[in-house]
Amino acid sequence: MDTKEKISLLVALQEKDTLLDEIRARAEAIPKAIDEEKAFIENIKTETEEKKKNLQKLQLSKKAKELDLEAKEGQIRKHSAELNSIKSNDAYKALILEIDNCKKDKNTLENEILDVMEGIEKESALIKENEKQLKAKESESAAKIAGLQEQLKKIESEAAGYEEARKQFCATIPAELLSRYEYIRERQGSAIVPIDGGNCGGCQIILRPHIINDVCKNQELIACDSCSRILYKK
Ligand SMILES: [Zn+2]
Repeated sequence: MDTKEKISLLVALQEKDTLLDEIRARAEAIPKAIDEEKAFIENIKTETEEKKKNLQKLQLSKKAKELDLEAKEGQIRKHSAELNSIKSNDAYKALILEIDNCKKDKNTLENEILDVMEGIEKESALIKENEKQLKAKESESAAKIAGLQEQLKKIESEAAGYEEARKQFCATIPAELLSRYEYIRERQGSAIVPIDGGNCGGCQIILRPHIINDVCKNQELIACDSCSRILYKK
């Protein structure tokens, strides 16, 4: 096998490998896209769960405040009834003050309850919105994932076809030449590159004239001194 034949075999092989790399990269991107879809849904779920917990806290807080309010109202009623039976002026004043304080506390509690109720309303609306979004997104996402899985299957069978063709093609390449190609490609991503002007088409280093000369002679395979890729003249 002469050098020209070797070069054209390797160039053809590299074209197949580049294509296979592209197919594999497309295949690899799909599980990632599926994971992203799933993560998006999970995020909405987690967010909704957190909001529900928060809502529960608010509801408990409302209940507690309502109980406090009831107690305060009881105190006010009790003290107001006591006013009638009090004889001393000082005790009367003290009780009036106590009632006033209870009324202030009652007022504060009423305002706090209103705030909590507002919070409950807001949180409930957000939960509803999230659940609506989740429902819509879940069916959309399921369809998208099914489509991606279908696509992956197609790409995988496409890849299998190309891999088989590559295997058959490799059987036509002398073993030593093939292993040299594989060795370089594994390290450099490409194993055979054209001379690009006066530079290596792989690492772009300026090639010495005698290297270019040797490549043009086509008597043997010449490698770039710098990156070890096999050089050829287009
Ligand atoms: Zn190079």
